[in-house]
Amino acid sequence: MTDFEIDQLADSVLQLYRLNAPVDLARIAREEGIELVGGNFGADFHGRIEYLPDDGVFAVYHPENLGEIFPGRVRFTIAHEFGHYFIPEHRDMLLRDLVHDSAEDFRPDRQIEREADRFASALLIPAVVLRNKMGRKGFLSLKEIKAVGAECQTSLQAAAFRYTQFTSEPHLAIVSENRRILYYFVSEEANALGFGGLGNKTLPSDSPAVRALASDRNIICEGETNTEQWFSERYRRADLWDESINLGYNNRVLTLLSWQDYESESDG
Ligand SMILES: [Zn+2]
Repeated sequence: MTDFEIDQLADSVLQLYRLNAPVDLARIAREEGIELVGGNFGADFHGRIEYLPDDGVFAVYHPENLGEIFPGRVRFTIAHEFGHYFIPEHRDMLLRDLVHDSAEDFRPDRQIEREADRFASALLIPAVVLRNKMGRKGFLSLKEIKAVGAECQTSLQAAAFRYTQFTSEPHLAIVSENRRILYYFVSEEANALGFGGLGNKTLPSDSPAVRALASDRNIICEGETNTEQWFSERYRRADLWDESINLGYNNRVLTLLSWQDYESESDG
């Protein structure tokens, strides 16, 4: 399925059950006859969906008691497994192989996991929430993205990645650990402008992102930066705005890069 089709599919589930944020995942499970099974399955466990042929039902296994350390994490895992249930190709795979173990969230190395993550994001953070928050302004600050995450009961990271997929502006969301860039999401427009791949493997020196690493959790560090600091030199130069925040575990920082002088065609 294309990203657009996956977003539409998630939207259709929200509409079918008239769900608003925070989306009631237990209700979707009840309505669809999916069994939700919480438990302590070990540190490497990231979720599993299984088809039980004797009962003709699907069961979703998810970790319990992670909520305090990783707010929103369990919800994302369940929504990801729902992706495997609702996306027709994934469901066919399950009916054939009976069981699927999921990989860590946001490691988009496998197509099937990337698609289920996309579904989870669109299900947990409905387009209508983003549209309402953006209003006429047309974009969101990190502080506003935090509020979206709180409203939808997802992690800040999930809210940021969803925004990057949703916005029509050039934008990147980057997660680093001890200054080393772990993974990042690029908006369609940033990709179209030629900024689809970061040249850097580490955060630029003296950047707000580096300041955030040394700051307490929940403090937003922001300031000017530019494409030369983040991308290799062959790209056209643009002034950027860096908003960064310490995620509060594993020395991880979330960084949002926005274009400062960007004017979309619709702005005239
Ligand atoms: Zn999966």
